[in-house]
Amino acid sequence: MKQTEFKTKNRGPPKVDNEIKRQYLEKNMLSSFGKGKTEFVAFCDFCNKKLGGSIRVSKNNLAYNVKVKGGHFHHADGNPENDVVENMKLYCYTCHKNVHRWGIIQRWLDKAGKTVNELPDSRNLKPMTFKSY
Ligand SMILES: [Zn+2]
Ligand SMILES: [Zn+2]
Repeated sequence: MKQTEFKTKNRGPPKVDNEIKRQYLEKNMLSSFGKGKTEFVAFCDFCNKKLGGSIRVSKNNLAYNVKVKGGHFHHADGNPENDVVENMKLYCYTCHKNVHRWGIIQRWLDKAGKTVNELPDSRNLKPMTFKSY
């Protein structure tokens, strides 16, 4: 039941408050955004890939239209309700996808009572399809 609920509600990455995005970016850039539109360069928290973006700050000093090209803001603890800057990561699409995949692998290992060291080296394997495995 819970899983269906999660699936129907979960379309794309959860929304992150613009002010939280701004706080995150300011914290990582060690500078603050003035009013109007500012272009910036940010970096993926995992692979350091360069990610261009832009932010707009209103006259009453509120952030809106915060965009990062090729990146997603991610809730580190997996709880989208925990919208605080300490819980935010900025990941490029690949890292974001893989961080969530890693969660699947970790839960699978826990369930099987195995550790990551017990996994075979699978670097040469191609993605599994129903035609060839
Ligand atoms: Zn990355
Ligand atoms: Zn995420």
